[in-house]
Amino acid sequence: MRKTRYIFVTGGVASSLGKGVSIASIAALLEAHGFKVTIQKLDPYINIDPGTMSPFQHGEVYVTEDGAETDLDLGYYERFTHANLARENSVSTGQIYYSVIQRERRGEYLGRTVQVIPHITNEIKKRILLLAQKNAELDFVLVEIGGTVGDIESVPFLEAIRQFRLDHGAESTMFIHLTFVPSITKGGEIKTKPTQHSVKELQKQGIQPDILICRTEGHLDSEVKEKISLFCNLAPKRVFSAPDIEHTIYEIPQIFHSEDLDREILQYFRLEGEAEGFLLMNPMLAKWEQVVDVFRSPRRSVKIAVVGKYMALHDAYRSLYEAMTHGGFPQKIAVEFIKIDSEKVEEENYQNLLKDAQGVLVPGGFGERGVEGKLLAIRFARENKIPYFGICLGMQCAVIEFARNVLGFADAHSTEFHPESEHPVISLMEEQAGVINKGGTMRLGAYPAKLSEGSLLLECYRETLIHERHRHRFEFNNKFRKDFEKAGMKLTGLSPDGTLVEAVELERKLHPFFIGTQYHPEFKSKPLKPHPVFTRFIEKSAGL
Ligand code: GLN
Repeated sequence: MRKTRYIFVTGGVASSLGKGVSIASIAALLEAHGFKVTIQKLDPYINIDPGTMSPFQHGEVYVTEDGAETDLDLGYYERFTHANLARENSVSTGQIYYSVIQRERRGEYLGRTVQVIPHITNEIKKRILLLAQKNAELDFVLVEIGGTVGDIESVPFLEAIRQFRLDHGAESTMFIHLTFVPSITKGGEIKTKPTQHSVKELQKQGIQPDILICRTEGHLDSEVKEKISLFCNLAPKRVFSAPDIEHTIYEIPQIFHSEDLDREILQYFRLEGEAEGFLLMNPMLAKWEQVVDVFRSPRRSVKIAVVGKYMALHDAYRSLYEAMTHGGFPQKIAVEFIKIDSEKVEEENYQNLLKDAQGVLVPGGFGERGVEGKLLAIRFARENKIPYFGICLGMQCAVIEFARNVLGFADAHSTEFHPESEHPVISLMEEQAGVINKGGTMRLGAYPAKLSEGSLLLECYRETLIHERHRHRFEFNNKFRKDFEKAGMKLTGLSPDGTLVEAVELERKLHPFFIGTQYHPEFKSKPLKPHPVFTRFIEKSAGL
């Protein structure tokens, strides 16, 4: 068994500094040096998981292979690394308390008073250790503490990681603090005071950061680093700048590498000798360079209309935008988004709203709001032979639109929205009929699907049996299979037993690229491994 090292990342001064992307970039660098890594997120909120939270509150819900509904940061972790994340990679205060309270009810605390220290903190430490227990090959477990130091909710987590160092020693644990070093006016004098305060706050919890990563406009000069070093009690070489990116977050692994952050981390753990790639140009880093190059000098660009309900918040469809962007990488296509709020799409304006779209995508969603607008956008794409990709609700809407406007079932609908429709082309799975609880009860996680010979999808994947992630309750209604097939909407992806429709597409003689998937392929796309359906969608939209 290997010795696993633990890197804890906390955030200070402000939220939204990019802690998730930073920790994922550090993990990517450690992988580039040949180490096996995983990343865990400890979220201070009381919800068991973000599955029941509005995307406006918390961004998208990211789904893992094993069907956990998790924080969107897990999406960054998977996109930047090869780590296979699962349920135990996402922990919330709610989960911690839930297990402790269940144990208390079973009488397992033998009459003792159940307290934050040690019972809650022990449960947190147990969850951190679980990852290396499940995978003995891990060299590093990186742990992101959600929220900002100073928040009342994060205190038990900070206390748990303080104890963790006591239990496992400084040689196996490192504390990284991501902080903000602003200047009052653009390009003006840099202010270190917020960072000093944030580090003091951490020190009050008994944690001395080993490394500080400072978000700033540019690079910190040595004078500023020395000042921070003096006030925050760590060597100047342990103070790093994280300057604003130029084009893309995929620059960050390289930025950290050029700052020598990876070398410092490995020296701290006395692993520099075991690392690959400090002398030669590291091949993994070269791949990141190619990704960044697409943003610097794209060969062409394409405009994709995304028609959904949560357009005001980019994070609400984060994985989707990332997957479309990755889809442009092989042919160096820059993908631009025309974000259209489906509630604003109406008979009078849809042609105009969509006139510049070279491709149309309707993402997943819940609830009836905006559905009619999505149907109009789909009709526009179908009739004008513009590449269309519908995901989950976007596939269900494509089915409804086809039923109404091609099959002539004017009242066609999903029973999610109109249970009394005479043409319920999308309906509830039987096993879902009696489910009352909202949290974690959908069809979740990876399921296999078989693709039909001659289908567009098979051409994309180049394998008949695929595995993709799901998050939905409703399904294509099998009663209508024949009607759709006959009219040219083919059911080209089925569950291996043939009972569930996983994907539909229009026959090529009807449309050049019109695909709907009941599953969410966006969760599996990575910059170094773009998803084949997104790649094809982007290329077709760009006229390739
Ligand atoms: N609301 C639909 C369902 O539950 C679609 C879900 C989704 O798009 N993720 O089936």
